[in-house]
Amino acid sequence: MHDQKKPREQLVSELMELQQRLADVEASDIGRKKKIEQLEREIAGHMQGQEKSRQSNVAVETALTGIITADMKGNITYANSAAARMWGYDSPSEMIGLNAVDRHPVRARAKAEQILRILRQEGIYFEPHGLPCIRKDGSEFVAGVRSSLIRDNSGKAVGVVGSFIDITDRMRAETELKIRNDINELFLTTPDDRVFAEVLTYIREAFASEFGTFGYFEEHGSFVTPAITRAAYWEKCKTPEKQTVFAKGVFKGLWARATEEKKTLYCNSGPFKPPGGHVPVENTIVAPLVYRNKVISAIRLANKAGGYNSDDRALLDSVVRNIAPVLHARIERNRGEKQRRQILAEKERLVNDLEERVKELHCLYGLSEYSTLTDISIEEMLNKAVSVLPQAWQYPEATGARIAFGGKVFETKNFAKAKWLQSADIRIDGEIVGVVEVCYLKEKPALGEGPFLNEERKLINTVSEGLGKAIQHDELERHQRLSAQILELLNRSPEAGSPIHDILLALKQLSGFEAVGIRLREGEDFPYYEASGFSADFVAAERCLCSQDDRGDLIRDSEGNAILECMCGNVIRGRTDPSQPFFTEGGSFWTNSTTRLLATTTDKDRGAHTRNRCNAQGYESVALIPLRSGKENIGLLQLNDSRPNMFRLEMIRNYEQIGASIGIALQRKKAAGELDRAHRQLKVRASELEMANSELSQYGYVVSHDLRAPLRAIQNYAEFLHEDLAQSLTGEQKGYLDGMLTACGEANILVEDLLSFSQIDRPEGHDESIEVGEVIKDILKSLGLSSEIEIVLEKNWPVIKTSRVLLQQIFQNLIVNAAKFNVSRPKRVELGFRPAEGNACEFFVRDNGIGIDRRYHEKIFRVFERLHTSREYEGTGIGLAIVEKSAAKLQGSIRVESDPGKGSTFFVTIPCGEEEEIDE
Ligand code: ADP
Repeated sequence: MHDQKKPREQLVSELMELQQRLADVEASDIGRKKKIEQLEREIAGHMQGQEKSRQSNVAVETALTGIITADMKGNITYANSAAARMWGYDSPSEMIGLNAVDRHPVRARAKAEQILRILRQEGIYFEPHGLPCIRKDGSEFVAGVRSSLIRDNSGKAVGVVGSFIDITDRMRAETELKIRNDINELFLTTPDDRVFAEVLTYIREAFASEFGTFGYFEEHGSFVTPAITRAAYWEKCKTPEKQTVFAKGVFKGLWARATEEKKTLYCNSGPFKPPGGHVPVENTIVAPLVYRNKVISAIRLANKAGGYNSDDRALLDSVVRNIAPVLHARIERNRGEKQRRQILAEKERLVNDLEERVKELHCLYGLSEYSTLTDISIEEMLNKAVSVLPQAWQYPEATGARIAFGGKVFETKNFAKAKWLQSADIRIDGEIVGVVEVCYLKEKPALGEGPFLNEERKLINTVSEGLGKAIQHDELERHQRLSAQILELLNRSPEAGSPIHDILLALKQLSGFEAVGIRLREGEDFPYYEASGFSADFVAAERCLCSQDDRGDLIRDSEGNAILECMCGNVIRGRTDPSQPFFTEGGSFWTNSTTRLLATTTDKDRGAHTRNRCNAQGYESVALIPLRSGKENIGLLQLNDSRPNMFRLEMIRNYEQIGASIGIALQRKKAAGELDRAHRQLKVRASELEMANSELSQYGYVVSHDLRAPLRAIQNYAEFLHEDLAQSLTGEQKGYLDGMLTACGEANILVEDLLSFSQIDRPEGHDESIEVGEVIKDILKSLGLSSEIEIVLEKNWPVIKTSRVLLQQIFQNLIVNAAKFNVSRPKRVELGFRPAEGNACEFFVRDNGIGIDRRYHEKIFRVFERLHTSREYEGTGIGLAIVEKSAAKLQGSIRVESDPGKGSTFFVTIPCGEEEEIDE
């Protein structure tokens, strides 16, 4: 307000000064008018009387008023000096004969003619507002005109006399006053945003100019033009901004000169080349507004019909001088207001920023809370994130949010693809896996990024980054859970059945894919072993991978392998080229869009003629992971989903690990299964054998046992016959009888041996502590061996817990054989032992007998197997069989070391039995 006061006071004083000047002019006019009237009267009298008064002549000649007489045709008959001066002639005589009407500019000639007409009718004419006149040099001035008819004595009009006063200054003062008054009024009454435009319009009209520019200089020198003649001019310009700012130095020529010299200048020698594609300018006038010797503003007018003149310059100069202080005050006030508004806006911005920060923190806190909750799924987390997001934006009620990830979309109810949309990609390891979008549903003022705050850009970036991490974390966790579950299934007991079905279910559930399948080898083909989520038609059509000829026979490659078709065939056969983006180093195939893949690759690129059924069934995301065991692919894992972009390379790698686990486990299971089957078969065989054996020994026992009685009867009867008929029998008959008795004896031994053999199987007695040395000594005693045989005995024998009967059988048979198959002199039999592994004793019986060929080392232990006839060495061939069976019964073993002529050593290893607990 203070700023405005000063120019207004100044204005008022200037206004008063101007009014005073006008009053002065008018006062002098009145004086002049009286004088003129008197002169006119004198001239008329003079003319009428054809008399010339010297005094009056002098008076007319020296008058300041221009006086001209003309005949009725308008030809000048007289002009005084003042008139000659006014019209710019050197002397009045120059004007004589010139036409009076032609002394006015063309535009005023009609008026001059009109004046003549009025004069003829009324005899007198007065024009106080001035008539434009044209000087000899073409310049103009405005004259107040008063004229009357000159009549002769008869009253006939013979000429015209006119008196002219140069009222140019007065007229200009009046115009100037009016303009200044009007402009001041405009300044006082027009709002800031329109003042430049209104003032410009006014001035432009006052100066009859087609175009105009009115603006102010900013501190750094650029020129701001809130007002340029728009309707007629601006539309033709190529820069239709509301408020144009011209950088310092843009305007050259007249503009530059005028503002530099601080002078109003004009130029009529257009057309000019104005800057910035403006319309062409024919003529122009530039008036700088100077306040305290500083150019604060400028008005430029252009295209006035006929061009500008010095009067225009003087008038505009005067007008701008008057406007300058007022405008200065206005600009200053605006500047102050602008600063105040800036400070207020800054304050508001800071408050907003603070609020936004609080909202952001709130949002981020909420999100971080959700992302750390382990018991919520990623879907739930994204849903929550979407509901929290709008709260952090400036206008929560007009904000919608949407998150797209993994083929799913989570969005607020009000979300729309509005014009004002902000988005940020969700990335994992640089791969785009989704997007976060925030929209404004109503237009909002433009800020950092469209209507969004820079902070909101940062926030949406932070949020998408955080979500990427949370998703990755979740995926990793799910992968681990899936791996663990699959391993558990793979390792479960075989009784629970094949794990494939459950593995597939777990895969489908934890991965979230629509359809999963496992192909496994079956003969030469790899049909679906299990599939879930695929249509029955799909599985039926895609079951076989083998390529068949017209007759239905398998087509084979050069190595004789059946050719497997389609991408599944590629993966199983390892026909994967890792240089193609859809194959991995691990031999998998994957795509996030089968449609795109088919459109951008050929069968050649894909390495096979593909059947494209996956695509035809609408599956966009497809992955085929080999099930690997060592270098062999035993099948594949298939993951299909109709949603595109379900995979990332990292995920495929994870599934490859799972595929390898499944492959190895299945192979191992297969091997274990086969082993198990063999075991079971063996077991069956063993039990069959055992049964047969036990039946056999049962049979042997029964036979040998039952044979004993009749044998003995035969023997007895034969002996009776021998005794009773001893004298009467011929030699030959006696021989028969002896033979019968011998045969009976042999049969007896055989039966006894067989009985012993079969009895080994029959449970008999308990294990007892046995002093082995004592047992051996008893045997040696009972055998009553020839004294020729040298017996070498170990001194310290162990005490073992075992079956006495079986131990006796072992040693007895071995000692008998050692003595029997011996022709050495002296015969030697050596017995000893040494401790063996696992609480066992290895006993040995060594002889210096005939020895045994290595070829027969196994054979000799079989029943009835003998290397000699009974004539050479008597025997039944059961002895060693009894030894072996007894050792086996005692959970021991037997072996022989022998060579022909080098004696034999039989080793028997038997457990020593549990050690006796010694009572203290
Ligand atoms: P037998 O003694 O009744 O012939 P065995 O089963 O005890 O039946 O022995 C089978 C065969 O093993 C004997 O016939 C003999 O040829 C051979 N044999 C067993 N012990 C010895 C030994 N100590 N030295 C040489 N040969 C032996």
